[in-house]
Amino acid sequence: MTDSRTAAPLGGRICVVTGGTRGIGLATVRALAEAGASVVLTGRDEAVAKERAAEVAAESGAVCAGYGLDVTDSAAVRALFTSVAREHGTVDCLVANAGVLEDALVGMIRDELVDRMLGTNVAGTLSCLQAAARVMMRKRSGSIVLLASIVGERGNAGQCAYAASKGAVSALTKSAAKELGRYNIRVNAVAPGVIRTDMIAHLPDDLVAARTADTALGRVGTPEDVAKAIRFLCGPDADFVTGQILGVDGGLVL
Ligand code: NDP
Repeated sequence: MTDSRTAAPLGGRICVVTGGTRGIGLATVRALAEAGASVVLTGRDEAVAKERAAEVAAESGAVCAGYGLDVTDSAAVRALFTSVAREHGTVDCLVANAGVLEDALVGMIRDELVDRMLGTNVAGTLSCLQAAARVMMRKRSGSIVLLASIVGERGNAGQCAYAASKGAVSALTKSAAKELGRYNIRVNAVAPGVIRTDMIAHLPDDLVAARTADTALGRVGTPEDVAKAIRFLCGPDADFVTGQILGVDGGLVL
C-alpha cells in the first residue's frame, strides 16, 4: 500500500511512462505510484500494458492505467497524449523511457538497424516530448525525464548506432530545457550504466562482470536504482534542476 511518508511528493500528479511494461520503465511506474502519482504506462502490446497497470494499482493502491503505444508512430503518440489529457485532466510528468538496443560492428550496421535505433530512441523520444510539452505549455508547468545512456556520453565499441541515438537524446535534453524553461517545464535525463534488464540479457555474464568491475561501487545496477533517480527528477525536490544528464552508473564514468 502507499506509504504516507512518500505519498506527498507526487500526490495528485499525472505521470506518463513509455515502455512501462518491464525493466527500468516498470520500476519507474512502481516508484512514481509509491510516491503518490497517478501513472499511465505504455507498451507496444496493449493487453500487457493493461495487465502491468492492474498489478501496480493492486500493489500500490495508486491509480494506474495501461495503454498500447508504439512510439515510432507519431500520430499515435499525439492521440495518446490527447486522450490522457482528456481522461486524466492533464500530464504533469513524462518519462520517455521506451528504447531499443542492437549491437553491431561498424561494417555490419544495416540501414534497418539504423532506422529502428534512431526511429525509436530519437524520433520516438522527440514525438513524446513534443506531445507532452504541448499539454504542459497550456498550464505552464511540467517535468520531462528522458533516457540517455553512458554509451551516448563515452561511446562503446560495437554500439555506434545506439551511441549516436543516445548522444542525440542528451542533446535533445539540453535544447528542450533551454526552450521550455520559460513555460516552467523542466527537462532532464538519466544516463544509466549497466542495468540488469532484458536489454542486456544477451550479454554473457563475464562481459557484464568486466564492464562492472570498473565501477566505483563494483556492482551491476538494478532497474530500481534508475527509477529512484527518475522519481527525484520528476518531483518537487528537483524544482530548480533542468538540462541535466544525471549519471546512474555506480561510478562507471569516473
Ligand atoms: P527493456 O528492453 O527491458 O525495456 C524496453 C521497454 O521499451 C519495453 O517496455 C518496451 O516495450 C519498450 N519499447 C521498445 N520499443 C518500443 C516502441 N517502439 N514503442 C513503445 N515502447 C517500446 O529495456 P531497459 O528497461 O533496460 O531500458 C529502458 C531505457 O533505458 C531504454 O531507453 C534504454 O536505452 C535505456 N538504458 C538502459 C540501460 C541498461 O543497461 N539496461 C543502460 C542505459 C540506458 P514492449 O514491452 O512493447 O517491448
